[in-house]
Formats: sequence, structure tokens, C-alpha cells
Amino acid sequence: VVGSDTSITKYKIVFLGEQSVGKTSLITRFMYGSFDPNNQATIGIDFLSKTIYPDSNENGSNEKVIRLQLWDTAGQERFRSLIPSYIRDSNVAILIYDITSKSTFEYLDSWYEDIKQQKHDFENQLESGEFIIVIVGNKFDLAEENIESSGDLEGKTLGLIKRQVSFEEGERKAKVLGAKIFIETSSKSGYNVNQLFKQIGEILPEVN
Ligand code: GDP
Ligand code: MG
Repeated sequence: VVGSDTSITKYKIVFLGEQSVGKTSLITRFMYGSFDPNNQATIGIDFLSKTIYPDSNENGSNEKVIRLQLWDTAGQERFRSLIPSYIRDSNVAILIYDITSKSTFEYLDSWYEDIKQQKHDFENQLESGEFIIVIVGNKFDLAEENIESSGDLEGKTLGLIKRQVSFEEGERKAKVLGAKIFIETSSKSGYNVNQLFKQIGEILPEVN
């Protein structure tokens, strides 16, 4: 139950990253707790809202109430012209790569450059926490160690499924790009998805 003295703060989160890294799937997993392997490619930009209670405890008291606006984007070239204005308006940019695709990881630098170009007073906003960068390595379920432990040797022998970016590389990149959060997730299994948004909620400033 939300008390009358609770203030609701709204934040805009934009999801950036190459096509197929799992932006739409991550949003779907967070919003609906489901995974649809046949989801449609995003056309342009979609947005959804969700309220989170990052401080909620077992007693059910929710000190902090945050309304997140999630802006999905499409990586295809023909939609890219739409993205800058969404970056400009955002409070948080989630840069996503696929841990089984080195190239999607390398493209983070170019997404970062886009942000830098669009964000007024970028360095100060980043430093003050007014604007937050988050790096997400998605498709954790496909990581080699998990395939080994689940006994699914087929994918391994075919060489189709393999981690190409280590956790440490991701962590280093996050540091270099000034990201406040680095996390590996799986939209398929749900691994760390709620954790990601909880961490974002915890560091968003409270503006009353
Ligand atoms: P987007 O283009 O970044 O929005 O990526 P999508 O969400 O459309 O996902 C692209 C493809 O990757 C789809 O076939 C998804 O089913 C698949 N996918 C997305 N997230 C995951 C994940 O965490 N694990 C696995 N194994 N597949 C995923
Ligand atoms: Mg999509």
C-alpha cells in the first residue's frame, strides 16, 4: 500500500544496443515476467511504464516509489534517426550487448559516442548522477559454464553457443564508460533482470 506521504518520481530509461542483443526481450521479461522467443522486431520506438519500489521490505513498507518509463529502440539503420531525441530526454541509458557476440560489445563505444553527442553537459550530468549509464551483458543463459553445468553438450560441440565477452571485460568497459551499474542478465531465464531494475531504482536520486 502506498502511503499518502509517498512521492512518485518519474524517470526515462532508454535501451540502446545492436539489433538482437535482447533489448525488447529484457523489457518484456521485466514487464510481464515472460520470454517470447518469437517476438517481433521493434518498429521504431516503443515505450512502456512500470512502477517499482526499490526499498520495499518484508513488512511491505515502500519508502521510495519510482515510475520508470522504458523506451525500447530498434537498432536497424533506418530507425536510428529517431534515437537521438530519446537519448536527450533520458535519465538513464542502458547499453546492452550480447555476451556471445563480441561485435555487439565493441559497438558499445559507438552508442556511448551517440550519448555524449546528444547529452547537454554530458560530463557533469554523469558525475552528478543526474544521468546514469548502465551496461548490461545479456544472454547469460548461453554462457559456456552454464551449458556445461546443465549438461547441454550439443550446443557446445556445434560451436554455436559460446561466451565471447568475459565478465571482467564487461566490468572494465563499464568503468571506462563511467557506468554506475554493470550486470549480466538473461531475458530468457530471468536471471538478474529484476536485480538490474532494483539497482537502478536504488541509485536514482530522489527528487521530491
Ligand atoms: P533486440 O533486437 O535487441 O530487441 O533483441 P530481441 O529482444 O528481439 O531478441 C533477439 C533474439 O535474441 C530473439 O530471438 C530472442 O529470443 C533472443 N534473446 C533475447 N534475449 C535472450 C536471452 O537472454 N537468452 C537467449 N538465449 N536468447 C535471447
Ligand atoms: Mg527489439
